[in-house]
Formats: sequence, structure tokens, C-alpha cells
Amino acid sequence: MSAATSTTCAYCGVGCGIRATVTGGRTVRIEGDPDHPANNGRLCSKGTHLGETVGLEGRLLHPMIGDRQANWDKALDLVARRFRQTIAEHGPDSVAFYVSGQLLTEDYYVANKLMKGFIGSANIDTNSRLCMSSAVAGHMRAFGEDVVAGSYADLDAADLIVLVGSNTAWCHPVVYQRIMAARAGRGTKLVVIDPRRTETAEEADLHLPLRPGSDVALFNGVLAYCREAGLAHAANVDVPDTFWEGLADGHDLWSTAQTCDLAPADLQRFYQLFAAHPRTVTLFSQGINQSIRGTDQVNAILNLHLATGRIGTPGAAPFSITGQPNAMGGREVGGLASTLAAHRGFGAQDIADVGRFWAAERMATKPGLKAVDLFRAVGEGRIKALWIMATNPAVSMPDAGRVRDALAACPFVVVSDVVAETDTSVHAHVRLPAAAWGEKDGTVTNSERMISRQRAFLPLPGEAKPDWWIVSQVARRMGFRTAFTYDRPAEIWREHARLTAYRNTGARMLNLRTKATIGNADYDALAPFRWYDAPFTDGRFPTPSGRARLVPVAQRALEAPLRDWPMTLNTGRYRDQWHTMTRTGLSPKLARHREEPLVEIHPEDAAALGLADGGLARISTPQGASLFRIAYQSGQRRGELFTPIHWADRQSSGGRTGLLTRDLVDPHSGQPGFKLSPARAEPV
Ligand code: SF4
Repeated sequence: MSAATSTTCAYCGVGCGIRATVTGGRTVRIEGDPDHPANNGRLCSKGTHLGETVGLEGRLLHPMIGDRQANWDKALDLVARRFRQTIAEHGPDSVAFYVSGQLLTEDYYVANKLMKGFIGSANIDTNSRLCMSSAVAGHMRAFGEDVVAGSYADLDAADLIVLVGSNTAWCHPVVYQRIMAARAGRGTKLVVIDPRRTETAEEADLHLPLRPGSDVALFNGVLAYCREAGLAHAANVDVPDTFWEGLADGHDLWSTAQTCDLAPADLQRFYQLFAAHPRTVTLFSQGINQSIRGTDQVNAILNLHLATGRIGTPGAAPFSITGQPNAMGGREVGGLASTLAAHRGFGAQDIADVGRFWAAERMATKPGLKAVDLFRAVGEGRIKALWIMATNPAVSMPDAGRVRDALAACPFVVVSDVVAETDTSVHAHVRLPAAAWGEKDGTVTNSERMISRQRAFLPLPGEAKPDWWIVSQVARRMGFRTAFTYDRPAEIWREHARLTAYRNTGARMLNLRTKATIGNADYDALAPFRWYDAPFTDGRFPTPSGRARLVPVAQRALEAPLRDWPMTLNTGRYRDQWHTMTRTGLSPKLARHREEPLVEIHPEDAAALGLADGGLARISTPQGASLFRIAYQSGQRRGELFTPIHWADRQSSGGRTGLLTRDLVDPHSGQPGFKLSPARAEPV
């Protein structure tokens, strides 16, 4: 038996510390790390059962060209040659990378550097676009930079916690345990705002099952109430001239209750709770972000906290919690097509600084295509070579049927993954075997910006290689020999740290002192840390004026039900599954929680449609149709359906939520509105 290795969970943005002990071969004992500040030893079911998922069943162990096993040299040469040829014939914007919050920061950094500094395009986007890009856009509008204002310690210190669009009990269970501990220890009040009565809502002091899409009206209503009560007087906040005028009409209790379809008494109770508790954390997740109004919804929350001073002090913050283990690391190195690197945008000075630092051969000069637009460009033939890393867009993208058609028609598709066959990789011309969790080494950043190490404790199986190595090899074979000579992830980490500090006068939130210190620290011994701790405690924000901004946001008209699609479809996760189940699907214990994909429907809606509990329903939308087992659920709002996102074709002939969701996006962030698609349900 080996000594325990301290590492970080492979799944969600809570970022729990784990101690993994190899007890023989590929058998691993998993325990929560009592010394990791994100979880203090706690784990949820997914983390606890990670040991069941490290076997080699279904692994991609060798490079493959088509259906043929190839050696690394041949596969890498082919990828480099096809990308080089495509760029030479059609320009740098004819190629793209689609990457993932499952990548480690070092992997993300190298892929971003290759695309934005050497290929000369910003066509690299990430599945984090689907998860929290509206939070990024909202932060930038309000704070001047993508800064998460809260931390888990704020949950311990809050007197009121408001969970918005988050089934925290299922999706971020260790954070939820922390909230429950705060409630037990100091009587913290809990309000849950969610159209569904979820497991999280069951435990709340107050549940507000608002009309989907009415969040801006709700938070504007609270802000109007707080102003009336004399609570909106925060310093260091720029307020546009017409801001308060915009809240003058239509934001009284009765109008807001009507717009949100809430009982006025419940709404009033929320107003009073918020007004009475300066130490309030509003924690928001996909229910806010995955909307075509996501950025405005984020800013409605930020406005409320900024205007009432509920920010920058312990226990008071608007707090965006991310889905994936390293969505935040991607944000820091520029994994989104809309950012450059190290919290820089595409301003002339940023392009010049990053280009000089990288000794770039060809810098991207403008933002690239965001995920939905990127796959549209593939479908329209504008992207002719695509490299997908560690993600399964044929299942997870909205209107996934169209994404599959696009992949099938793309002249050259590369997939690097740990899994031999996914709904995406069946379209790949080249498959490259990547190192999996437990085999790779690097860093991840969790929702509260805590950076932790993922460490290898298992040998690389077959010919699998780390993603940073694969990308570096292709870069060198494309002719970029001197900029991609990394031998270890520690070298990449130090370069990333140096770039973040490079010409950073301190205007950006990333703390120079910490950057410099940590960049030179012993990488192997790196303990969990943050670039900066509690932001905004000095009342300064990373805008040119040093002041935050209130952003006027108005509730847009809600869509009326359509004749052929009279219901709306909401989507989300199950407690014990993760993304498209390529890992959690390997665990028999995790499968017991929900054995198949269900469509949840209010019993009265079901009865009116002739849908029997436990029977089958055909759920259809303008995008597609799929079969689901019916589950009566009195916690559903009338007129709404809920289905899980996890199932793929290779796992099930039905339950394919991705085929149903529409690909409309938020205009600021490009994040798709997964939570609301017109739909209908019929008996089979
Ligand atoms: Fe892993 Fe998230 Fe569960 Fe923690 S809460 S053990 S990070 S899945």
C-alpha cells in the first residue's frame, strides 16, 4: 500500500481536497482531506466513489487515426500538418479548439497560448461557456474585472444565505453541508429562489418558486424596497443618472409578485429578511447563468449587494458558484474566446504585453467565436479543423443534434480524451489518449478561487499522455519550437504566474506579492492558496475610477406559451451523476440513486395529458424529441417539465436532453439558455 497522496476531487467547483491511497494495482482508497480548507474532510457521494472510476474499462489507451491504432509520432504529425495546411489555405480563423473545465490550468494555459499567440486566432472556447460565462460578463460590467466577491468562509459568517437557481444539496453538496452547519451553529436563515421545489428548497426557511425568467424583476423589486427603507446608500459605487428612475415604476410589492407569480406575503418576507440582515450571501448558479437574460440577472444581484453595501465585509457577498473543477483556472489563463490571458482583454496594450511576454509569432487581435457560434461555424464550413479536448459537445451542447451534424461534416476533427468512444469522438479523424484524474499533475481553481494541486498517484496507462504534453508536441510540430519546450507542468505554472504579474501595476485584482511568491514556490509542495483573499475590503474596485458600477437592468417581457409547445422545459443535474457520465457512469453505487433519466411533471399536468406515473412520455421541442420515464413531482410548477442533462446515445436510447434544448444565447456572455425551452409532453 502506498502513502496517501493529497489531491483534489475530479468533479465540481467546490474543489474538495482528497487523500488517495493506492491499495493495490488500480485499487484506490478515497478519503476527504481534513486539512483542505474547501471541505475540511467532507466529501459527497461522487467524490467518495471516485475509487470505483479509475479502472481501465473503456479507456482510450493508444493514439488512433480513424479506427486504426497509430504511434504518437504519426498521430501528432498528422494533427500538426492538417492544422498548418488549413491555416495556410484559409487563415487562422478557420481552425478552433473547444476545451473544458476538466482540464488542469497548465493544460488550459498551453492550449490558449498556442491558439492566441501562435496560430493567431482567439477561436478557443470552453464548455465553461455553458456554465458561468454570464457571471463573468456580469462581474466585468459591475466590478471592471471578473472577480468572484465571496468565499466559503462568508457562508460561515452570514446571517442570511440566499440560494438562487441552485440545487446546492445535489450539485455542490459539500457547500450545502457547510450551509447546514452554519444554520445549526448560528441559526443562519436560508431562502431558496428556484421554480422547482428541490431537496435544497425543502430545508429552507422560505422557498420562492418564481416564474422562470423573472429574476430581474425579483431583485429589482428587493432593491426598490431597500431604497425606500433607506438602505441603498453604498459608497464607492457609480450610479448612472437614470438608474433609480428605472426602478421608480412597476417595482412595488404587488407588481413584482405578479410578474414573478409569487405570493405577496412570501415576497414581503424575503424583502424583510434581506433588509434586516447586512450579512447576506447571495449564492447563485446555473439557474441564473443558463438563461438568455443571464448577464442581466447576474447584474440585478450585484446591483442589490453593491447598493446596500452587502459586499467586501465578512458574511456579505454576491457569490457565483461554478460547476466544474477548473472552470476558474480556465478563466485565469484566458480559456474563454472573449478574454486573452491573465485577466486581460483584447485592448491594444493587453495584446502588446501578452505578445511580448510570449514572444508570440502571430497574436490574436480580437475575441474569437463563443461555443454556440463556434459550432455554428463548424456546421457552416467556416471552421475546417477542430480540436476538442476533454469534453463531449455532441451531448452537452444545446441543440446537440445540430452539433453532431456539424461534427460529421467537419473536414478534420481531433478529440483528446480519456474515453475511447463518446458521442463526440465517433466523429473524430484522430483520437489522442489523455491522462485521467489520478494520472495527471497540475493545478485547479475552485469557485472561491482557491488554487489546489491535482496530483498523480497512478501510472499512465497504455500510451496516455498529459494534455499539456500533447498540445506542446503539436505546437512544436507546427513549427513553434522554442515557445513550447515544457518538460513538466511546474514550468508552465511558473510561466503562468510570471505572465499574470507581468506589467501588472496592481490595477488588476491578482495580487502581485502572492503571484511573485507562489510562482517561485516549490510546485510539488504547493498548499491550497488564493491569489487574493477577501476582495473589495478596502472599498476599491478594479475599474479605472476605483468605483463599482450599478448597471441598469430591466425585466424583459416573458415569452407567452406557444400553441404547439405549451409547456416549458427546464434542465439540470442529478446528485450522483456528472456531465455526460463518462466517469460517474462507471460506478455501480452512483447508478443506484437514479437508474434512468426521468421527466418530472406536476401530477395535475400529467393527468390532463394522460401521462401515467412510471410510464413513458415523448418530450419534444422545436429542436428534437426523446423518450423519458415519467415521474410525478408535486414540486414542479404547473406547465413545466424537468429533465437531467447526463444521458448520451451510447448509454440510452432515450433521455437525450441535449437534443431538446434550444441554442439561443445571452447577448453579453454567449451563454445558452438551457433552463427554458418551449416543449410539449405526450404519452407513448
Ligand atoms: Fe467532489 Fe464536488 Fe462532491 Fe466535493 S462536493 S466531493 S468537489 S463532487
